[in-house]
Amino acid sequence: MPTATRTNPLSFLTDQLNELKQKGTYFKLRVLDDEQAAVCTFDGKKVINLASNNYLGLTTHPKLREAALQATKEFGVGSGAVRTIAGTMKIHMELEEKIARFKNVEACVVFQSGFTANAGTVSALLGKEDFIVSDELNHASIIDGARLSRAKIKVFRHKDAAHAEQLLNEIKNEPGHKLLITDGVFSMDGDIGILPQLTALAEKYGAIMMVDDAHASGVLGRNGRGTVDHFNLHGRVDIQVGTLSKAIGALGGYICGTRDLIEFLYHRGRPFLFSTSHPPSVAATCIAAFDVLEQEPERIEKLWENTRYWKQELGELGFNIGGVNTPASETPITPIIVGDGRLTMDFSRELFKEGVMGTGIAFPTVPEGKARIRTIVTATHTRDELDQALETLKRVGKRMGILA
Ligand SMILES: *Cc1c(COP(=O)(O)O)cnc(C)c1O
Repeated sequence: MPTATRTNPLSFLTDQLNELKQKGTYFKLRVLDDEQAAVCTFDGKKVINLASNNYLGLTTHPKLREAALQATKEFGVGSGAVRTIAGTMKIHMELEEKIARFKNVEACVVFQSGFTANAGTVSALLGKEDFIVSDELNHASIIDGARLSRAKIKVFRHKDAAHAEQLLNEIKNEPGHKLLITDGVFSMDGDIGILPQLTALAEKYGAIMMVDDAHASGVLGRNGRGTVDHFNLHGRVDIQVGTLSKAIGALGGYICGTRDLIEFLYHRGRPFLFSTSHPPSVAATCIAAFDVLEQEPERIEKLWENTRYWKQELGELGFNIGGVNTPASETPITPIIVGDGRLTMDFSRELFKEGVMGTGIAFPTVPEGKARIRTIVTATHTRDELDQALETLKRVGKRMGILA
């Protein structure tokens, strides 16, 4: 029974939110009124969108839209159960077979998201007696999976192969399994993981090699096959993670590897066992997306052409786009590093008012003092739109003292 004297047990949340407000890093969600596209409407304002992961413009591709509608008509809106009970539909199997062929691996399993693919796989594979050797900038879902596994976690300095080797060497006589894990593309700086060096280390020390290609899927490698293809490491990386939520345009994550790895995950991957599978429309959408990757490589070419132009022009304007004290971006993710969290958030808000959507990202997502506007250009931005965005960035950047 609530009484008049009972204090709100959640009041500490209000305190923490107030702290964020004082720091200037509190945010409200921006709400998209129409489609996720290069130019779209957030909170009633039409903006040039530099904030999405919709690299290839597939969120609104007519073939994907049609595939989703068709699957809904044919198979309904939901799968009705988790995969292991009654929720494995033919279309789920079709998608997994398609991805396995695309990636040239034995088998594939799709999870509800990239997050659950990482967390579910890392936590299923490793246990208390095991070791996880992980890049310090790996994605939160890898960190959470590592913690859930209760394995011992060793973190190496970002892309520092010598440090990774030192850690592997320290545990080389331990009986447990060892997992060496990196992002293929790092999501905040846009730099590419050191796969060749890490793969060689995994071979030398008998570790399992795993790469999270969330931002490389559909972006790097032939037709967007990812970093393993980009570096020609076929057959040497044990576990490849991909996402269906970014360039693929829909939702989901997948694990590629041997047949036994995939069957093990059927039995032990907790999100697979305990959370309902995708609606048929999502599976159908993703199948159509892989067809588009094969049939429309010009989308990926256009993405990279826009990326080169964008980086060059931003650099010429004088923005800090990484490379000094921060990793240099090598992909369509281009950070505009401002430094101060509050200034970054103010910059983002001012840009929005003037028609450019670039999300401000501050601590704890990036280190203190490295706050940034994270920009991603897509294949569907026109040169005119990019020029307009550059003009706005320049004007607002000067006004706020971010540009000289
Ligand atoms: C976005 C991202 C994920 C999560 O993928 P979702 O499909 O959005 O859950 C995992 N790893 C990395 C590196 C990512 O950038």
